[in-house]
Amino acid sequence: MTDDSLENCGLDTLATHAGSRRSPERENSEPVFLTSSFCFDSAAHAAAVFAGEADGNVYSRFTNPTVRAFEERLAALEGGEACLATASGMSAILTLVMGLLKSGDHVVCSRSVFGTTTGLLQSMARFGIETTFVAGADPAAWAAAVTPRTRLLFLETPSNPLTELVDIAAVAAIAHAQADCLLAVDNCFCTPALQRPLALGADIIIHSATKYLDGQGRCVGGALVGPAKLIREKFFPFLRAAGPSMSPFNAWVFLKGLETLSLRMRAHSASAGALAEWLQAQPAVSRVHYPGLTSHPQHVLARRQQTGFGGIVSFEVEGGRQAAWQVIDRVRLFAITGNLGDTRSIITHPASTTHGRLSAEDRMNAGIVEGLVRLSVGLEEVEDLRRDLATALAPFQTRA
Ligand SMILES: *Cc1c(COP(=O)(O)O)cnc(C)c1O
Repeated sequence: MTDDSLENCGLDTLATHAGSRRSPERENSEPVFLTSSFCFDSAAHAAAVFAGEADGNVYSRFTNPTVRAFEERLAALEGGEACLATASGMSAILTLVMGLLKSGDHVVCSRSVFGTTTGLLQSMARFGIETTFVAGADPAAWAAAVTPRTRLLFLETPSNPLTELVDIAAVAAIAHAQADCLLAVDNCFCTPALQRPLALGADIIIHSATKYLDGQGRCVGGALVGPAKLIREKFFPFLRAAGPSMSPFNAWVFLKGLETLSLRMRAHSASAGALAEWLQAQPAVSRVHYPGLTSHPQHVLARRQQTGFGGIVSFEVEGGRQAAWQVIDRVRLFAITGNLGDTRSIITHPASTTHGRLSAEDRMNAGIVEGLVRLSVGLEEVEDLRRDLATALAPFQTRA
């Protein structure tokens, strides 16, 4: 498959073909290049590749053919020029910060981002990089937080676990009104199958490949997608020097995961939508958070910037933490784990796990109430999931 034969091809074709290069063995499925280093024809060839005068791989800390195949495929899906794979989603965010920023720079970040992202940005204050956290849904709050020193705006949409949206195009316009300021979007929840932030004006995409790109809960990995110059000049040198690199084996798992990404995202979205509608009608449930519901305060924005609503649904049960924990302990098909984006459904109590390290006040401000339960809806039969939740909720259905 040559790159020009993929010109004008749609997302599912790119997902199954982009980045694939056949070796002299003529294999159909991509091989895994589990090798730490690469050999040269001669001393002169080695010198030329090391000096960057000839193309070729040197060492898998910075380039590897399987990792490159994953990078090219993900870049094609996001509609970006280039991609850099990393060992985890967090190391993609670290690479973003280390590659782009210096002491004295300022970051504006949505308050409802992944908890470890908040922690990582806060810890950068030690190196003279300050972050202001804002209410992501309010474009005016972003504009008000920008200063002449702001170099990066960072957001996640929809957010975890309340599925709050940020208007990507509006925040991109705010970033670009400022000199030398870029917008990075963590596209973990939607993936390029449901949302393409670069087309809406974002400059850089961050991924935790651990979630939907793998989609089967096996490997930890991450990636940055963006302009080739930025990847080459800012991010690649940090990866080469510091080594938060993706393992070739993990890259192969993610590469194959991408082939089924949009099929899976459509199925996750359909089941999550059906469960969200059903949950909304249950007496024990006081509130459901899902962008696909017309009751979601940003449903219109979700229709505009996403092509599907994703697999994450959160709901509040009457009776606070005690009731939430009982529901979690009573389900049978949902696994109790902090991960998301698996073929298997997952149930989580955010207030005591993923958001447990926040102060009670910060949790309250973020809307993470004690009765909140988060579902990552998997690929099981939706009717089986509904029955499992009905059994778990039964003791609390007294408001009828
Ligand atoms: C999990 C996650 C991350 C971190 O990714 P890791 O692969 O666990 O390092 C970042 N952002 C979001 C939205 C996530 O869900």
